[in-house]
Amino acid sequence: MSGAESEAPMGPGTAAVWAGEEGPLPWGSVTVPIVNSVTFSYDDVDGWLDVALGKSEGFIYSRNTNPTVHAFEEKMRVLEGGEAATSFSTGMAAISNTLFALLSPGDRVVSVLDSYGGTLKLFTDFLPRFGVEAVLRDTYDQEGIERAIREGKCSLLYLETPTNPTLKVLDLARLAAAGREAGATVVVDNTFATPINQRPLELGAHLVVHSATKFLNGHSDAMGGVLVGDRALVEKVFHFREINGASLHPASAYFLVRGLKTLELRVARQNENALALARFLEKRPEVESVNYPGLESHPRHDIARTQMRGFGGMLSFSLSGGMEAVKAFLPRLRLAHRAASLGSVGTLVGPPGTTSHVEVPIEERAAAGIPEGLIRVSVGIENASDILADFRQALTTG
Ligand SMILES: *Cc1c(COP(=O)(O)O)cnc(C)c1O
Repeated sequence: MSGAESEAPMGPGTAAVWAGEEGPLPWGSVTVPIVNSVTFSYDDVDGWLDVALGKSEGFIYSRNTNPTVHAFEEKMRVLEGGEAATSFSTGMAAISNTLFALLSPGDRVVSVLDSYGGTLKLFTDFLPRFGVEAVLRDTYDQEGIERAIREGKCSLLYLETPTNPTLKVLDLARLAAAGREAGATVVVDNTFATPINQRPLELGAHLVVHSATKFLNGHSDAMGGVLVGDRALVEKVFHFREINGASLHPASAYFLVRGLKTLELRVARQNENALALARFLEKRPEVESVNYPGLESHPRHDIARTQMRGFGGMLSFSLSGGMEAVKAFLPRLRLAHRAASLGSVGTLVGPPGTTSHVEVPIEERAAAGIPEGLIRVSVGIENASDILADFRQALTTG
């Protein structure tokens, strides 16, 4: 776990490069090494006990934390502006550990129908087995969500914005205030936006979770998860994860630390490229609709403008011809790769049935307003002119 009393404010580009690397590194190394050691030795037993009891900083056993893992946690803590941070083997480990550590039988969670597919599975299939009720409301039913928060005990309010794959936008400040008023712990999945574009803790959330596998890593070569926010809550989840064992591997932490160094540059480019592609698609006759919070046509563009600094690298659009058109269009793309996952330097495309909602049956997808002709795009850092040319030729041929 990572935590600090106070720090001088740094810009996000600087924090991404240097936060968590303050200490002298071995041999004057300028990169945080991969410390594969599972345990750490002490000659002084009192000093060892102090570290074990949390009275002084140090490392005991890598299931708990580790120097490389700590550097990643500290970077994310500073980037999200939280009191403490802890990490996990994957994003789903971050989400499930957070929910299982903070909830007890009889508790009630309020969330929305557009949460990430794996998270929805926790709400519908797993938490109820432990006596936790999840109340899911339509993402754009603002009053309905607020009513669900007020009408019964609301232990935890779980939000995600922009959503996957239809890029719906929730009003974070308004919902976090309603959650806090009801005494709920407010958790936000900030995977799509990244702390470069959106900082939920500033908008009233207690905790922020991420799939670090996505934009934070940025290169599709390591998995991880992270939780940042209120110290007491992060500590509670950290102690559960210590025992539950879903720890981040130091080698993955190294890739995450390295990926984070260019986060601000990558996200700035992805914001620009995604806006350019969204504007291009919006004008095409083959395209029925485009979902991107940066478009003036987005139903919550005004809210996105107030709570986001940039609109992110994710968009989705639907082809008029439905699934048949999707099957014809996707293989024609030459530059963009057809794959699940997102947030990498390369443009990735796929239908939600194979990506975000692979765990969600087709009827539930339809109920969540996900048309079969939908294509999700994770826009990369290539040159916008090449991305547009690729989509243009794939739409025009055939
Ligand atoms: C991918 C993703 C997750 C799950 O993360 P993993 O690292 O795949 O376990 C959770 N939330 C969102 C929004 C995601 O995109």
